[in-house]
Amino acid sequence: MMLEKFKDYLKRYQIKIKTLFENLSERDDSEHRRGVPPRIMGLVASLSPSAVSIPAEYGGRGSLPSEILSLLEITSYESLPLALVFGINGALFLEPLAKYGNERLRSETFGKFIDTRSLGGLMITEPDYGTDALAMRTSWKKSDTGYAIEGTKHWAGLSGHADFWLMTAREKGSGSDLKRDVDFFICDSSDPRQSVKPVEEYSSLGLYMIPYALNHVDVDVPTHHRLISPKSGVRLMQDLLHRSRMRFPGMATGFIHRMMDEAVDHTQNRFVSGNNLFSYDQVQKRLSDLQADHTMASAFSRHSAEISSIDNDLSGRSLEANIHKTVLSDMMQNAAQSLLQLVGAKGYKTDHIAGRSVVDSRPFQIFEGSNDVIYQQVADQFLKHMSLNKDFHFLSALKSHPLTSKIADHFKRMTNFTINPNMLQRKKIDFGRIFSRITGLEWTLDMGNGGYNSALVNQALDSMTERIQSLLGSFQGINTTRFIPVESRALSHWRETL
Ligand SMILES: Cc1cc2nc3c(=O)[nH]c(=O)nc-3n(C[C@H](O)[C@H](O)[C@H](O)COP(=O)(O)OP(=O)(O)OC[C@H]3O[C@@H](n4cnc5c(N)ncnc54)[C@H](O)[C@@H]3O)c2cc1C
Repeated sequence: MMLEKFKDYLKRYQIKIKTLFENLSERDDSEHRRGVPPRIMGLVASLSPSAVSIPAEYGGRGSLPSEILSLLEITSYESLPLALVFGINGALFLEPLAKYGNERLRSETFGKFIDTRSLGGLMITEPDYGTDALAMRTSWKKSDTGYAIEGTKHWAGLSGHADFWLMTAREKGSGSDLKRDVDFFICDSSDPRQSVKPVEEYSSLGLYMIPYALNHVDVDVPTHHRLISPKSGVRLMQDLLHRSRMRFPGMATGFIHRMMDEAVDHTQNRFVSGNNLFSYDQVQKRLSDLQADHTMASAFSRHSAEISSIDNDLSGRSLEANIHKTVLSDMMQNAAQSLLQLVGAKGYKTDHIAGRSVVDSRPFQIFEGSNDVIYQQVADQFLKHMSLNKDFHFLSALKSHPLTSKIADHFKRMTNFTINPNMLQRKKIDFGRIFSRITGLEWTLDMGNGGYNSALVNQALDSMTERIQSLLGSFQGINTTRFIPVESRALSHWRETL
């Protein structure tokens, strides 16, 4: 069968999804309702968006990063929660299955995503193990027919709703010991022996479309449901999570674009003190920062499209993946906050896109690794580069680093100082923020060299340089204050100072 050209498919998809969200009734989108509305599931069935993440030999479009990112971009312009559903389904289920599933498992499973409305998700997080997920306690042992897996998982997107789960667990050793490596198994929810039970539904703050829960895991999966990792399970997990972090730009580009369009539309039509908001300088600052972040997110998409194919091993590319995840999730949250500020009180209604977007974009800074932790890892990696070169001069390290060598000179005045590698954790996080944003600007320059609108590239450069300058102020500041252990009730009261 001849595959429809992607450009034509995307156009058809865009029209359909736009109409769908314009007509989504309050009942479908109610704040009390959790789960993917039935009409959205209809879209999943009729347009088969999963096909972009499925290899061609199984009837998919070939799992091309540029197509996956474009689909996420169009989706998140209309609905960030739906984009996250497709992001989870693609990056956390279909792409790892395509890369690490055996032939039998792939041919049994992919068809259900193309022909029916199946969705998949990933279970890693446990109540006692979030950031330190590798210490998870969910365990597996061999059974008569495959693998018996037991444990507790929570916060997995699509809890109680996914047709398939990618389940993580550690092998039971002797006694209560668990082996260090983490293994991956596919659970088919349609088989009672493989079905994961949600035992407590979570009333999440936002992303209403995606159900979350505490899940009891007591399943038995067939032998061929185990993913095959050529090196180790941890390497598989790194490859999977790094690729998933490189799917953030698709969601971020569409989402920030929407925030910007909403902001422009509102500020052109809202008159305050005789002028439309659009004419005020502070409003222009907000709008141009939004536009700059859209340009940078596009550059991240371009960068991801070039390197994140399932044919590449991303397990060793933590630095780039972590930069994608942190910078883009910060930009998404800032974009939503900025829109809410510009819209004012009206935006604070639960059914207004501004307020909803603040809440919906916030967890992107938490899941797949908390930004505070990941920025520190980014800083540690750049410090390692400095240490290997025995050169702690910031500018010269930027010049010698492969991710920043072309942009380094732009920061020559600001970064002309030496770094003390023995810095506090809070300084590392500032440092990680700075290095990540400088790298993002290099990708933006690359996109400019590829022919992207130069006025937009220069705007991004100016806007982000100013923000980096202010981060450098914090990084070079001397504040090292710590929490003072005064009993809460005994805190001094201002009245007594009158
Ligand atoms: C909306 C949403 C969707 C999610 N989707 C999924 C999913 O599909 N599948 C899945 O498996 N999981 C999912 N998660 C879980 C998510 O990955 C975890 O919440 C995340 O890994 C953090 O774990 P935790 O919540 O237990 O926080 P903790 O590990 O308790 O960390 C809480 C905070 O402590 C601070 N902190 C932690 N360690 C350090 C440190 N070393 N230094 C300084 N500060 C530190 C950070 O500020 C961090 O944010 C989702 C979560 C949310 C909110």
